[in-house]
Amino acid sequence: MVRKVKTIADLPCQGKRVFVRVDFNVPLDDRGNVCDDSRIVATLPTIRHLMMNGAKVILASHLGRPNGEKIAKYSLRNVAPVLAKYLEQPVQFLSDCIGEEVSKAVEKMSNCSVALLENLRFYREETDNNPKFAKKLADLADIYVNDAFGTAHRAHASTEGITKFVKRSVAGFLMERELEFLGNRVANPRRPFVVILGGAKVSDKIKVINSLLEKADSMLIGGAMAYTFLAASGNTTGASRVERGEIHIAQGAMDKAREMSVPLLLPVDHVVTQTFDAEKMTIGDTAISAVNIDGGQIGVDIGPQTVEFFKKEIESAGTVLWNGPMGIFEIERAAAGTFAIASAVAKSDAISIIGGGDSVRAIKASGYAEDVSFISTGGGASLEFLEGAPLPGVEALEKLQ
Ligand code: AMP
Repeated sequence: MVRKVKTIADLPCQGKRVFVRVDFNVPLDDRGNVCDDSRIVATLPTIRHLMMNGAKVILASHLGRPNGEKIAKYSLRNVAPVLAKYLEQPVQFLSDCIGEEVSKAVEKMSNCSVALLENLRFYREETDNNPKFAKKLADLADIYVNDAFGTAHRAHASTEGITKFVKRSVAGFLMERELEFLGNRVANPRRPFVVILGGAKVSDKIKVINSLLEKADSMLIGGAMAYTFLAASGNTTGASRVERGEIHIAQGAMDKAREMSVPLLLPVDHVVTQTFDAEKMTIGDTAISAVNIDGGQIGVDIGPQTVEFFKKEIESAGTVLWNGPMGIFEIERAAAGTFAIASAVAKSDAISIIGGGDSVRAIKASGYAEDVSFISTGGGASLEFLEGAPLPGVEALEKLQ
């Protein structure tokens, strides 16, 4: 059973210092300007709620992997003006995340004001989950809020350690939505529940496959992953990407699907090519192959019959969960299958959940991102959560009775 966590809606925060762990790990260009602000926008409901309720809002995040060094290109300084524009009020940037200067600045904060701390990972103690460092962060706060689902699978000082030193630890609204869609709506789905999995490797997704087979009414498999399954079923796969060492794992998943009476649907045709340069991301001319792929051919996308076959499943779904592209969608001639599935998911009446990682890039590239119910902001965290693994950053939050 998925237990619900307490959120900022459950706590009065007038005049309180509220430390919010956000995920402002945004892409920056050569000049350090924010090139995609979607992660900042995603946290606005939490920040606005806290401001409207009279809190002193202290935001903390990591950016990149500075590995405990103060490296200018990983500074969060340029995030503050972007956030200020959305909030229509100044955001005070503090050039450290602990220390006397920071404590003094926080003391002077007035109600409804917002401050942004410098990159937490300028200290190695953050990723080491060092208790002294966690305590220093906690000393800045009366209430701790975690709104950074993308790092909730890591037990770091700002995601787990800090909760041991603050009185209250609750979720922000972004975290709440992630847990609702990837947790409750997957555990108790509107049926039929159709799971679509794709992407590069069976080895990366096997735990998710096994966990979701317990909940799904059918499972559709595309992407390079499908070739390992097809090889396990005795089909020929040509020169497609097959994980030879994982064939028995795929076999095991198919056995489990049979035992659980969950149809596990594999592609019935493919887009194939003679050459694929993974470094340059180029492919040769493409053709359509039947389910068995000939000698030198490489499968790069699901074929048109598979698209129709998968679409029918999606059209009758009550809930769709999609993780992993159907082909090498980064290359135009191998993207049609992924985009057709994106369109079918977006147009269906089902609750549609995009489970993080590359599927998010794929749904954005397809132009259907606005038409799905939920897009997860987590990569590794989404996968681990869907696997059924407890996330340290979520476990540390207060639960509703
Ligand atoms: P993942 O991170 O496991 O979801 O994998 C996503 C990657 O899988 C994308 O970069 C795709 O280009 C790649 N991919 C999908 N289908 C294929 C395929 N048929 N052959 C090689 N790579 C693929």
